[in-house]
Amino acid sequence: MAPSMVTRFAPSPTGLLHLGHAHSALFAWRRARAAGGQFLLRLEDIDRARCRPEFADAILEDLAWLGLDWDGAVRVQSQHMDEYRAVLDALTSRGLLYPCFCTRAAIVREIAAIGHAPHGADGPLYPGTCRRLPAEERAARVARGEAYALRLDTAAAMAAAGPLTAEEEGEGAVVIDPATLFGDVVLARKDTPASYHLCVTHDDAVQGVTLVTRGLDLKPATHLHRLLQALMSWPVPRWHHHALLTGADGKRLAKRDAALSLRALREAGRSAAEVRAMAGFSD
Ligand code: GLU
Repeated sequence: MAPSMVTRFAPSPTGLLHLGHAHSALFAWRRARAAGGQFLLRLEDIDRARCRPEFADAILEDLAWLGLDWDGAVRVQSQHMDEYRAVLDALTSRGLLYPCFCTRAAIVREIAAIGHAPHGADGPLYPGTCRRLPAEERAARVARGEAYALRLDTAAAMAAAGPLTAEEEGEGAVVIDPATLFGDVVLARKDTPASYHLCVTHDDAVQGVTLVTRGLDLKPATHLHRLLQALMSWPVPRWHHHALLTGADGKRLAKRDAALSLRALREAGRSAAEVRAMAGFSD
């Protein structure tokens, strides 16, 4: 029988883990272990320019040192690009994705010309320029080999999915509104053949994750993830977005706070129990 509680920690190997990551990992691990469920580890390394193998090795080593164990093999996203491609193809064949040839500069110019752009979770929303391209022009530019990203036609996708909610622990059913938060979001970048949103949602489904735990900074992304789950008929988990750890200055911890990397703390003589306590979980 499938375990009723499956959580995961899904860091990107772009640097050393710090106390904020330890908090996230311990949060997910403790929930799984308390429920007799499974805790999975996944490396989100699709951004080949920013990810490095030595950071991936350091993540496994630092988590083990911290006292965490995980179930099954570590899932490494870069080994599953064909699966993400298949999801993009499925969405394209249903007319829910379109190629976007715009450069960043062209988008900025377009927004300036319009005079305003609604703001979403990650900044100004894409004004929909390439969504309005005539089919022949689109086909001709693809045939010419022009580089393009793939964007979700979010209004069409929401119309196909119907009204949606996501279950956030402690909050209940949250009404899903990806159009306001993300607009026509990029699901495959010109330089990276799949986006974080696509891969994370696909993988949570494939891995049978039942409770997605992560920092509050990623809470808006749930709107998009819930939509992708509906479009792809994937199982729907619950979510718990936890507060972010802050430093002595009250600011959230970041990878640049090198002194708070698990490695630096360990080299400075801190024990794993001390670091767990610093990350908010006393034994
Ligand atoms: N890979 C993401 C990060 O390192 C986390 C993904 C998630 O938990 O949904 O920020």
